[in-house]
Amino acid sequence: MEWETVIGLEIHAQLNTASKIFSGAATAYGAEPNRQACAVDLGLPGVLPVLNEAVVRKAVMLGLALEAQIAPRSVFARKNYFYPDLPKGYQISQFELPIVARGHLEIELDDGSRKRIGVTRAHLEEDAGKSLHEGFGTMTGIDLNRAGTPLVEIVSEPELGSAREAVAYMKKLHALVRYLDICDGNMQEGSFRCDANVSVRPAGESSFGIRTEIKNLNSFRFVERAINFEVERQIELIESGGTVVQETRLFDPDRDETRPMRSKEEANDYRYFPDPDLLPVAIHTEDIEAIRAEMPELPDAKRERFVRDYALSPYDAGALTATRDLADYYEALVAACGAPKLAANWMMGDFTAALNRSELEVGDSPVAPAALAQLLARIQDATISGKIAKEVFDAMWAGEGDADAIIAARGLKQITDTGAIDRIIDDVIAANPVQLEQYRAGKDKLLGFFVGQVMKKTQGKANPAQVNERLRARLRGD
Ligand code: ADP
Ligand code: MG
Repeated sequence: MEWETVIGLEIHAQLNTASKIFSGAATAYGAEPNRQACAVDLGLPGVLPVLNEAVVRKAVMLGLALEAQIAPRSVFARKNYFYPDLPKGYQISQFELPIVARGHLEIELDDGSRKRIGVTRAHLEEDAGKSLHEGFGTMTGIDLNRAGTPLVEIVSEPELGSAREAVAYMKKLHALVRYLDICDGNMQEGSFRCDANVSVRPAGESSFGIRTEIKNLNSFRFVERAINFEVERQIELIESGGTVVQETRLFDPDRDETRPMRSKEEANDYRYFPDPDLLPVAIHTEDIEAIRAEMPELPDAKRERFVRDYALSPYDAGALTATRDLADYYEALVAACGAPKLAANWMMGDFTAALNRSELEVGDSPVAPAALAQLLARIQDATISGKIAKEVFDAMWAGEGDADAIIAARGLKQITDTGAIDRIIDDVIAANPVQLEQYRAGKDKLLGFFVGQVMKKTQGKANPAQVNERLRARLRGD
């Protein structure tokens, strides 16, 4: 039997505002426990929440980027449940009237084709605190610093057909929120996390199978592995005569499996109702247009422009627009050196490799675009070969100075004086009479050997094109 996978993702992105969604307490990560929770976050009696305008603006930006509808009127609701890290006894969220609805995101599939995924809604809510289970003996510690941190929950339609598609969607959304600068995207710190709803059905079937929901996946790899495990589990279960139970499951990365957390019967009845402490949010067309005017160029548009303006392949353009910082670096580099293809090759090759090796972000690169442009200019004007340039680049990365200074200090200038090259060629030929005879007898492959000898003698500084040309002539005996 052929099976088809159906996946819908609920992604929580933490909005990167300085203060919380309904209070003035700071949102910065990593503070001492309970230093960043004020009376509002603690749910003390007699306090009232006040909506942070920056949160609304960021949600609208996301909605515009998803080509979604921005609700002219949205409402905050109380989602009631008891948990130690939720002091109020309810979470303020949005239920019937979310701020953003009916958008979409286009993902690229492995075969290069594109697929449009519907975004059902994106609503605002506050995060809860954290329960700490380590270091308190038989007790649990409660840290309320995170309580009241603004979140946007982005809910997809059940239109993702595989773990790969789910990851492509999640990556696309991750890049988008970072481009928009509405979320720092830090997955280790939980700023961007995902719940995956997974079901299977016989291929061609139009109704959905029963789904399970895998909670709190905080890396792309975990999303992929958890979904693949869950799909296999459901298929095996059904094929052996069982039925899937609608439940919440947790992924265990160490054992590479999902395990039940709670079933539908134990699920909470949240008793949603509009929060009487907060007014509905009214957003006017002028507000929306003002926010639209502030939006940066989005990843897809940038990628298309890179293909058009710099004649890059879609693959290269995609890699160079993966983050805004990388794209900005590239554009500064091209502006300074005027060689889009050479710049792309260097950035995707040595530059990215060096960043990875040093575990640095583009913004922290010790080699600025202008400095790299100078190096590329020395390749273009034949001062050095591409191979020597790699050595110069490593020295620049290590802080030895700019390209010209390193080339001078290390004596790396390419030898283009034909007289000097000819003298070295003659020495090499004289020193290898056997190879010369074989070459002249038809063993063409030996040209490479002679080129190698000449390059060795010049420590790689001879112009390779010149060496080839002149060596051929000398070997023929011209
Ligand atoms: P809930 O509010 O209980 O989480 P929703 O209906 O809002 O349920 O759906 C939540 C997520 O589950 C959405 O992303 C949706 O696309 C997805 N989903 C719903 N039904 C299925 C299904 N049968 N298989 C896979 N995903 C599903
Ligand atoms: Mg859900």
